[in-house]
Amino acid sequence: MRVLVVGGGGREHAICWKLRQSPELSELFCAPGNPGIARLADCVPLGADEVSRLADFAAEAQIDLTVVGPELPLTLGIVDEFQARGLAIFGPSRAAAELEGSKAFTKQFLARHAIPTAEFVLARDRAEAAAAAARFGLPVVLKADGLAAGKGVVVATEQAQVDEALALFFDDRRFGIAADVVVVEEFLEGEEVSLMALSDGRHLLPFASARDYKRLLDEDRGPNTGGMGSHSPSGVLDGRSAGEALEHILRPTLDGLAAEGRPFTGVLYAGLMKTETGVKVLEFNVRLGDPEAQALMLRLEDDLLPILAAGASGHFGVSRLHFKKEVAAVLVLAAAGYPDLPERGAPIEGLARAEGHPGAVVFHAGTAERDGRIVVAGGRVLNVGATGPDLPAALRVAYAAAAEVSWPGLQMRTDIGRRLVERASLLSEG
Ligand code: AMP
Repeated sequence: MRVLVVGGGGREHAICWKLRQSPELSELFCAPGNPGIARLADCVPLGADEVSRLADFAAEAQIDLTVVGPELPLTLGIVDEFQARGLAIFGPSRAAAELEGSKAFTKQFLARHAIPTAEFVLARDRAEAAAAAARFGLPVVLKADGLAAGKGVVVATEQAQVDEALALFFDDRRFGIAADVVVVEEFLEGEEVSLMALSDGRHLLPFASARDYKRLLDEDRGPNTGGMGSHSPSGVLDGRSAGEALEHILRPTLDGLAAEGRPFTGVLYAGLMKTETGVKVLEFNVRLGDPEAQALMLRLEDDLLPILAAGASGHFGVSRLHFKKEVAAVLVLAAAGYPDLPERGAPIEGLARAEGHPGAVVFHAGTAERDGRIVVAGGRVLNVGATGPDLPAALRVAYAAAAEVSWPGLQMRTDIGRRLVERASLLSEG
C-alpha cells in the first residue's frame, strides 16, 4: 500500500515509525514531515493545512491511504475534500471534527444526548458571560469556542481572573472569532484522565491508557504546553473507569454523531474528569494526543496499517487492539523560550548518541536540517522514548538517552512518571 501521513511533528514521526513496520506498506510519504521522518518516508514539501494541494498530490502519487495527524486539516475539511475525489483517508469529516473545532457545538451536542459534562452557559457578549460566571460562583471555567492552540481556557479562582478573561475574549479580541461565543461552565473537581479510541463510524477500538504532562516545569508548575512527556499505561485510568467512559461517553458520542448525520471516523479522544458523581467530559479531540501517541505507538502490537485502511472504508474487521505488557515512557525536549517564544536555530549535539542508546527511540518534532546539521526549529524539538518491563525501567533508558542530547537552553522535565513510581500503582491496569 502507498501511504501518505499528514503532519510533521513527533506524533507523525511515531505514526510513520509504526506504519514502516507493516508488511503491507510499499511506499510511505509524509507532508511536510521533518528530518527524522525523512529517514522513514519521502517528505513532501506541503503544509498540513494545504488541503487541496495535498489531495492533488495523493491523486497524482496514487496514494492508497492517507492518515491525518493534527487537528487543523481535519477542521479545514481535508477528509471531505479527499472523499469527494474518491481518495481513501482515515479521519473525521469537517462536520464530525466540530467536536474539537467548536466547544459550543460540543457542549450542546452533549446536552442533547444526555452525555455527562459540566453545567454550562453559552455567552455571546461580555454581560452575558459575566452574569453566567456570577451565577456559577468561583471557581468557574471560561472557554473560547474555537481552536485557540490550548490557550483559550481559563480556570478562574478569583474574580479578577474572570474579569481579565472576559476582557481578553470580548474586548481585546485576542482569539478573534474563536471567542465570538464563550462557554462559561461549572468547575469540576476530580482527577483528570483521558481515553482515546479508533472509530470506523460504528465501532470503537480503545487504545491502552496514556497520560501526558501539560505543564512546562517539574511538580506541574509553570505555563501550560502542548505536552512535556507521557507514559502508557497512565496509572490513573483503572479498568472500571475506562469501561464507564466507553459505555457512557464514547459509545453514545459515536451513536449521537451518527444519528445527527455526522458519522465519526478517526481518533476520538475524550478529555475526562473523574468526579464523585462519575466520569464527565471536559473536551474532545479528534486526533491522537501528542506526546501520548508516541507512547502508544511504542506499545501497540497490531499492524496499524490494515486497521486504519479498513477503518477508512467503514469497517475495522477486528474487535480490539493489542498492546505490549511493557510500559512506554516519552520525554519531550523543548527549545529555550518554549512555550512563549521558542528560540530556533541552535545546532543539536549528541543526537546520534541518543539514537544509538540501547532500547531508546528518538522521534523528531521541531527540527530542521541546515548545512548537513540538525538544528532546533520549533518549540517541542525531540521526543525520547523507551519501553521497559516497568515504568522505572522505561524512564531509566529514556532519561539516559535524553542526557546525551544538548543545545543552549534545552528544557526538559526531570519528573515524568516520578509520582507514579513513588505510588507504584501501575500494576493493576492494562
Ligand atoms: P479543555 O481544553 O476544555 O480540556 O480545558 C483545558 C484544561 O482546563 C483541562 O485539561 C482542565 O485541566 C481544565 N478544565 C477545563 N474545564 C474544566 C472544568 N469544567 N472544571 C475544572 N477544570 C476544567
